Amino acid sequence: MQQFKRLGGDRRVGKFTEWSRNDENYCIYCGDVAETRDHVPSKVFLIEPYPDNLPTISACEPCNNGFSFDESYVASYINVFRRKLDRRFFNEKIDKALKRDRKLKELLDSQINTVEQEIYYSFDKDRFQNIIIKLAIGHAGFEFDHVDVDGVTTLWYDWKFNLNANEIESFNMIPSVDIMPEVGSRVFNRIESGLNLQNSESSIYLNWIDVQKGIYRYLVYFDENHNISVKISICEFLFCIISF
Ligand SMILES: [Zn+2]
Repeated sequence: MQQFKRLGGDRRVGKFTEWSRNDENYCIYCGDVAETRDHVPSKVFLIEPYPDNLPTISACEPCNNGFSFDESYVASYINVFRRKLDRRFFNEKIDKALKRDRKLKELLDSQINTVEQEIYYSFDKDRFQNIIIKLAIGHAGFEFDHVDVDGVTTLWYDWKFNLNANEIESFNMIPSVDIMPEVGSRVFNRIESGLNLQNSESSIYLNWIDVQKGIYRYLVYFDENHNISVKISICEFLFCIISF
């Protein structure tokens, strides 16, 4: 099993390892008293107009603000990179923000380079990892009412263009439900039923949640080790799987 740095790195050392909906007065990321609600996903990953009723989760002020630096970097990186490959794709809000933030623009220009017909890219993996885990904790807490925030067992992410058709299909697959989530949790209410017309077998499964079509979707489920798992697609460009 791979070991991961605690969420927030040196800036916010977690004080606890689990969060439950009963702990709504406490920050899901660090365990401090929560004065605010954090959007999951943060609006920086979406485009305007924003969808109604975005999920929110309890967070302390330092965490709520503390992630925004890395979130801007990750969201801008994904948008700029995707734009380089697909000229039709753009995010007006991020373009505007980059005009104001010259430092970030310079960083992205140095990390995503086109030379003749080739794109050369590098990115700050710690910052990506920090934000991917943060997003997954938020989704897991919101959907399951309980999450072991200190126990990341799987962290995988890759650019869609690196994956073959089978890998993309497997990422998109809707898992059937073998263990029931807690009654009353949001994920419990999201379970859908299916009937196989060929063998008349019925099944229950969990479906993708489209926060914003083509921009952000996630899926929560239990993996084969019965760990809470979250799949996230950002801009249909970066695919992530995280298990707790
Ligand atoms: Zn916090």
